[in-house]
Amino acid sequence: MTDTINIRSDSYKKPKLRKIGVFTSGGDAPGMNAAIRAVTRTALANKLKVIGIRRGYQGMIEGDFMPLRSSDVSGIIQLGGTILKTARSKEFRTPEGRQKAWLQLQNAGIDAVVVIGGDGSFTGALTMSQEYNISFIGIPGTIDNDMYGTDYTIGYETALNSVVCAVDKIRDTAVSHGRIFIVEVMGREAGLLALNSGIACGAEVILIPESKEQHEALKRFLEKGYKSRERSGIIIVAEGDEPGGALKISEEVRRDHPELDVRVSILGHIQRGGSPTANDRINATRMGVAAIDALLDDQKSIMIGLDNGKIVQVPLNKAVKLNHSFNGELLQIQKLLNI
Ligand code: ATP
Repeated sequence: MTDTINIRSDSYKKPKLRKIGVFTSGGDAPGMNAAIRAVTRTALANKLKVIGIRRGYQGMIEGDFMPLRSSDVSGIIQLGGTILKTARSKEFRTPEGRQKAWLQLQNAGIDAVVVIGGDGSFTGALTMSQEYNISFIGIPGTIDNDMYGTDYTIGYETALNSVVCAVDKIRDTAVSHGRIFIVEVMGREAGLLALNSGIACGAEVILIPESKEQHEALKRFLEKGYKSRERSGIIIVAEGDEPGGALKISEEVRRDHPELDVRVSILGHIQRGGSPTANDRINATRMGVAAIDALLDDQKSIMIGLDNGKIVQVPLNKAVKLNHSFNGELLQIQKLLNI
């Protein structure tokens, strides 16, 4: 990975700030609470006051703030969702909305903000930091794992395991009834969740936006593979693969192969919730500590990332503008194994 800066991780530093805000934004992701806890306790250990901003940017605009003490983040590391709640705010996309948010931050005496969310949330932070003198540090929290500059985003691993668990169960029915299941997984424009879950479940075909070749693989499987195997199959479709997702694919399959018993399963929000895996908790904790480290080092407009297991700082403008690199190796493996 390029364009990253290694940071030092010494522990206790003399504070230059007085009060920080922390909030979650965009879709919730398991592990966000672990990040809130780490941010809060690291800030408190460095004699900073901490304000939790509820309901993302909308809460910032409305001044929906709550002081966070160490006890407020006790017993949350194992919880999915976010204790600060999250939201999508249309108003924050306007200069007037951001001005309201800025006034609320000023009134509350907040000097810097840690934002836990995805690229939309970071774009909002970047825009506001260019308009007003306020530091934002981003922690990538999204099940999509689609951020440039980090190998990992909080919640991805938990979501991946949830998908694998669900598809394993669906496989039992597919095999027992000799059916083809078309399973749609989340990920918006990114196919990483679909690709990795498909590999982990031994899916016969994986359809992702990053590779159109797989549509040919689907045709081949339906024409030959289905009969030569166990007469059942799992086709994983990333929600962003094409408009209509799994339902559209199922219409095409039924039209071309009326003889097949085809079912659709859209996993939906089951993928977003649940208790975070150990790795999601550990990485969220490391990122939360690193975010406060960065603020104490006078950093501004950066995202905390993980590069080969190491904490790195990535400029926010790169994190939001550049695409997450797509590793084609897993797709090659998928092709090789599905002979
Ligand atoms: P996820 O990947 O889980 O969807 P996200 O952070 O990408 O998370 P978005 O809904 O895209 O989620 O963005 C969250 C919020 O960030 C939006 O509701 C909006 O308030 C703010 N935001 C997004 N894009 C912009 C923008 N271009 N300018 C200002 N604010 C923005």
